[in-house]
Amino acid sequence: MKKLAIIGAGASGLCAAIEAQKANPDLKITIFDRMQKCGKKILATGNGRCNFTNNDLSLKHFYGENEFLKSILSSEFSDIKAFFKNLGVLSYEEDGRIYPRSQQASTIKEALLKGAQNEKTTIKTEFRISDIKKSKNGFTVNGEFFDGVILCGGGKASSVHGSDGSCYKLAEELGHSLTSLYPALCGLVISDKDLNLLKGVRAEALVRLYSDNMLSGSEAGEIQFTDKAISGIPVMNLSHLCESKRSLKINLDLCPEITEKALFNHLKQGINSFPDAEFEAILNGIVNLKLGFAVMNRSGIKPQSKCKALKSAQLNEVVKLLKCFEINIKSPKGFESAQVTKGGIKTNEVSPLTMMSKKAEGLFLCGEILDIHGDCGGYNLHLAFTTGRIAGYSAGKFLK
Ligand SMILES: Cc1cc2nc3c(=O)[nH]c(=O)nc-3n(C[C@H](O)[C@H](O)[C@H](O)COP(=O)(O)OP(=O)(O)OC[C@H]3O[C@@H](n4cnc5c(N)ncnc54)[C@H](O)[C@@H]3O)c2cc1C
Repeated sequence: MKKLAIIGAGASGLCAAIEAQKANPDLKITIFDRMQKCGKKILATGNGRCNFTNNDLSLKHFYGENEFLKSILSSEFSDIKAFFKNLGVLSYEEDGRIYPRSQQASTIKEALLKGAQNEKTTIKTEFRISDIKKSKNGFTVNGEFFDGVILCGGGKASSVHGSDGSCYKLAEELGHSLTSLYPALCGLVISDKDLNLLKGVRAEALVRLYSDNMLSGSEAGEIQFTDKAISGIPVMNLSHLCESKRSLKINLDLCPEITEKALFNHLKQGINSFPDAEFEAILNGIVNLKLGFAVMNRSGIKPQSKCKALKSAQLNEVVKLLKCFEINIKSPKGFESAQVTKGGIKTNEVSPLTMMSKKAEGLFLCGEILDIHGDCGGYNLHLAFTTGRIAGYSAGKFLK
């Protein structure tokens, strides 16, 4: 009976176990995880609801080598909704994002465990793998012999959920190379002191990221100010573009659906209708009041200023700030608060058809350990599940 070791009982590892068993029911599988419980990260995904895939799987939402990604996304294993339906999980859609119908991430974790566990599979938790050596017919994993290995210990993001980057070293020791690593899908640290009071404020905005005054990317959606940082899906989606960039700035259009002219006219009309009102009351009809204060502060207008005292030039300045509110960015928040890792094991060293290593026969790599990642919206789990399934199926066939 052939033996397969799966390193990491996360999203990709559990899928790999399910497909390996299907492809080779005689296979003896051991799944190792350094954490006390499997799939801890899955429980944290989608704010506890697990956004596990997306209806729009076009390439623009994924980052990595294009041909590698195309091959994965066109694979029969990329139908993740059907995969979970077969495991008994019905799905629910919100703006293209797919969640389990129960809206509980535990549904996904339990379905994967139910699918992966059987009498031929052993799960060893609190078991950290620190040494894998290639031998003539297989591998020794922490001293124990296995015919094949699937390495799926994730990236370096959010180590509290298990993935501490330790599997990169294991892959490197087996002949693989690593790109530079960078936190992705995370908030950005703000250096402007005047914005400290904005903590907790949410707003719809168009977010433009600049480096050295050159536009790096833009995204629209809900932003959120946190402790000395800015976050929200558009900001998180842009965070990976900060790598190797200098003089980072964000420009917020706080009224993306309104033209400058219409904004000016609206303010002017408010001022004319309520000349004795304080200007903050007029701004409060347009943006969150704390943001309004920040706008007034930057334009030199006191919140208590009477409307009738304001000049057109001051109104113009307010409109300019509402359409282009500049924020200086220090850096991304870091791996601990990032949802994924940009970079990883180079994909030209792995076959996209099988996920088998081109450096060590019998070794398979899948999930976030690879140099692939996606936007916020179910894309990263989609990659983990799909590559995990391909790796599991291929390992099962390889060890037949
Ligand atoms: C807070 C948060 C929310 C997220 N929300 C979403 C979302 O809604 N949708 C989405 O698509 N993506 C989301 N993601 C990203 C997604 O969860 C990951 O991209 C995905 O889980 C990666 O799967 P993986 O199997 O490669 O790695 P992981 O799920 O990280 O699993 C790796 C496993 O390997 C184990 N391990 C690591 N090293 C070792 C070792 N040396 N020995 C033994 N075991 C080891 C770890 O303990 C871990 O259990 C989120 C991430 C975070 C942190």
